Amino acid sequence: MSSHSPSRPVAIIGGGIVGSALLYTLAHRGVDAVLLESEPALALAASGTNSGILHTGFDSTPGELETELILRAARIRPAILDALGVPVIPTGAELVPRTAEDHETVRALAANAAANGVQVEVRESDGALLVQGESVSDPVAFALALAASAVAAGARIELDARVTAISAIDDGLALATADGRRFEVAAAINAAGLYADEVARLVGDESFEIYPRKGEFFVFELPEGQTLDRIILPVPTKRTKGVLVFPTLDGKVVAGPTAVDLDDKEDWSVRPEAHDEILAKAVQQFPALEGLEPIASYAGLRPAGRGSNYVIGRSAKSDRLINVAAIRSTGLTASLGIADHVADILPELGIEVGELHPPTVAGPPASEGPWWLRTARHRHPTTP
Ligand SMILES: Cc1cc2nc3c(=O)[nH]c(=O)nc-3n(C[C@H](O)[C@H](O)[C@H](O)COP(=O)(O)OP(=O)(O)OC[C@H]3O[C@@H](n4cnc5c(N)ncnc54)[C@H](O)[C@@H]3O)c2cc1C
Repeated sequence: MSSHSPSRPVAIIGGGIVGSALLYTLAHRGVDAVLLESEPALALAASGTNSGILHTGFDSTPGELETELILRAARIRPAILDALGVPVIPTGAELVPRTAEDHETVRALAANAAANGVQVEVRESDGALLVQGESVSDPVAFALALAASAVAAGARIELDARVTAISAIDDGLALATADGRRFEVAAAINAAGLYADEVARLVGDESFEIYPRKGEFFVFELPEGQTLDRIILPVPTKRTKGVLVFPTLDGKVVAGPTAVDLDDKEDWSVRPEAHDEILAKAVQQFPALEGLEPIASYAGLRPAGRGSNYVIGRSAKSDRLINVAAIRSTGLTASLGIADHVADILPELGIEVGELHPPTVAGPPASEGPWWLRTARHRHPTTP
């Protein structure tokens, strides 16, 4: 195999949490990298509209790639977030069983957690499953801090840069953006979330399809004197993972999400019926929400693979394009594990990758108001 021109960087297409973690990791493993993001800022899609929870993987299927990368991320993430000053509250989570079937599910989940090496406890008084390692974070601060640290370590970010064409050149790829910019790169990593299938189509790769699975949330302010200090997870049923209730870093309480399969990748609206759907379930979990009116709502679109999940690897149609697609439900948690895993693929293309260096600190993470309103305001500028 011939080696790439040393002057060519590796491009990352898409600046959600996965693209930001890739940029961070490549920059800190000695790879020249440039991130191309179609929006005017990073993390304005799924990565800015999720639950912000850093999962332990207690309920993930042992042996799957998703689980492996959740666990890999857990080994490296705490030190990086700490060094970069990304806020995290180690709340822990609890699942309270209400039926005999729930108790059985809790026992199965405890066994699953053990198989993944995740510490859990079953509370004697009510049989609740306690998962101490679950925590809440600010997902926007997480993405922006990784990106800022990458830039401080020498990486580049191009905003308003929607990739619309990819062509093969000698030992590399040429990427073109909608506004006519051109980038010659040694390889490209497709982390375009909902549009990762369309980016793959640019090289004739039709091996996977992404559709939006909408999740809606409502944000509440609790009356004086009341607080929520943990994540309340429903006991999952065969049909659904259900609605959770969790505290935010800025002292609010959020209930959601729904899971509504759509076709329209641009429908970021909250459906009128979502309020009653969520509240009926959330009040059961956390009765303090009874009678409260939400102060805000937002919706996220999970980049879901049709019949696939965590599609990671070199494209069969262009071996210098690496797909990192269908990161549907756990991308915030797993992002740094995904990035480290993908970095390990680059040597197959003759690109040298070193060990992960300690984080380059770029100053405190940018604060842009409540993260849970940022994308809603971008998508619907009339949002208060
Ligand atoms: C409702 C909901 C709840 C969730 N809760 C959690 C949770 O609690 N914990 C957790 O770990 N995960 C959670 N997730 C999952 C997590 O948010 C996703 O897995 C993660 O955000 C996916 O990141 P991404 O970078 O792959 O995609 P995205 O965030 O969608 O980013 C893709 C980026 O690519 C850009 N792009 C698209 N096309 C192009 C192009 N042609 N050129 C350049 N740029 C392009 C987009 O503008 C976008 O910025 C949740 C998701 C949702 C929606």
